[in-house]
Amino acid sequence: MFPPQNCQRCGVCCFSKLETYVRVTGDDWSRLGGEAERVAHFLGHRAYLRMEQGHCAALAVREDREGRREFFCTVYATRPQICRDLERGSPECAGEIELKGDRPGIEIF
Ligand code: SF4
Ligand code: SF4
Repeated sequence: MFPPQNCQRCGVCCFSKLETYVRVTGDDWSRLGGEAERVAHFLGHRAYLRMEQGHCAALAVREDREGRREFFCTVYATRPQICRDLERGSPECAGEIELKGDRPGIEIF
């Protein structure tokens, strides 16, 4: 079903195998404040979100009581602008799900 009921049941756009998946600008770094070092790092002269186990390091994956996966952004209020710009139900969101919906070869836990 598209769009998913909510992003916590999906989380697809927070997954990638690319180390340079999400650029972190100077404004993004400032907004992240004390969390910046935990979730972002420099590769060369540019900063990016850290990627761990095939997803952004800021993503927390849990199971609810029925064993269904839930995906939480642990820096939601201060997440980078590019994350803020991706709206659930938008063509970009649809593209993410089309491309990576199955998350092949990516560790969920
Ligand atoms: S924006 Fe779209 S791809 Fe991203 S978590 Fe929400 S529903 Fe999934
Ligand atoms: S910062 Fe949050 S919204 Fe952006 S990719 Fe990471 S977990 Fe997803």
